[in-house]
Amino acid sequence: MRNTTSRGILDRLKSGVVLGAEGYVFELERRGYIKAGPYVPEVVLDFPEAVKELHREFLRAGSEVMVALTYYAHREKLKDVGRENDLQRMNRQAVKLANEVAREGDALVAGNICNTWAYDPQNAKETSRIVRAMYEEQLTWAVEEGIDFVISETNDYLEEALIGLEVIKELHLPAMVTLATVQQDKTRDGYDYVEACKMLADSGADIVGLNCDRGPETMLPLIEKIRAAVDCYVAAQPVPYKTNARYLTFESLQTNDGEQAFPLALEPFLCNRFEMAAFARKAHMMGINYIGICCGGAPHYVRAMAEALGRTVPASKYSPAMELHPMLGSDVEEKDKGFLVDWKS
Ligand SMILES: [Zn+2]
Repeated sequence: MRNTTSRGILDRLKSGVVLGAEGYVFELERRGYIKAGPYVPEVVLDFPEAVKELHREFLRAGSEVMVALTYYAHREKLKDVGRENDLQRMNRQAVKLANEVAREGDALVAGNICNTWAYDPQNAKETSRIVRAMYEEQLTWAVEEGIDFVISETNDYLEEALIGLEVIKELHLPAMVTLATVQQDKTRDGYDYVEACKMLADSGADIVGLNCDRGPETMLPLIEKIRAAVDCYVAAQPVPYKTNARYLTFESLQTNDGEQAFPLALEPFLCNRFEMAAFARKAHMMGINYIGICCGGAPHYVRAMAEALGRTVPASKYSPAMELHPMLGSDVEEKDKGFLVDWKS
């Protein structure tokens, strides 16, 4: 077990918002360490320093949780890339890396499980057994390497999320279970998202909520309903993309040519840091307890969100000081302002 003097997740949530940060797979793909398509975190074994660097950047930006990069590091996905034999090594190493960086600050380590693509509601009994075995092996290794709690995320099926929750509770760890919201208002197995969160809370989840798929604009109205419906802690980790009433999810966004922008051509839809800071403020006002970011997330967003929550974090040392900019600063003479306008036009 992890030997830590740091306060646990439930203690921290009791005294205020916990800031998280995710999006490791997307960011490490952009940096050239993960193959888009299978999205298996081979980087954990092949370039461990790259994983540690990103953990460290999120830590400096104010994230209180280092999420072990075991997303898609499960049996089904490793089979797809012919690395089934690396399953255990990859899972253990991911938790070790998260621990090494967490100790550089005062962060917690979260074990991570996700949708498996193995669950089939048409064949629930048999596939539930497969899913359970996958979660058990991943989380047993994670517990042995040392974790503070578990994030089960991007759950498309409530029933699959409930299996994950059961396994986490059997290990006597705090459980954060969040749903993917690809569809309008229901999980893929037909439960209303708000109802599904209630059922997770009633089944013992300590934190419920949403992650991925939706940007701030389309996640906030739904998370507000979830907040009103449950008594437990609530988490919101949107993607930093401009989804809207017509395009609810980042999977549905389209380029100017009408092509699907997800997942490789999403840049034109990125939120800026001020928009993510505004999200953090709104979520806080709404009573959301765990505020974070998912695919597309990067350290500059996390720092802006931390500062929006009134925090000064290590990376705040280099936060913008635009008054010192040669053309945008407050002491700039009129003739120099003209220069900037010329350049813009
Ligand atoms: Zn995501």
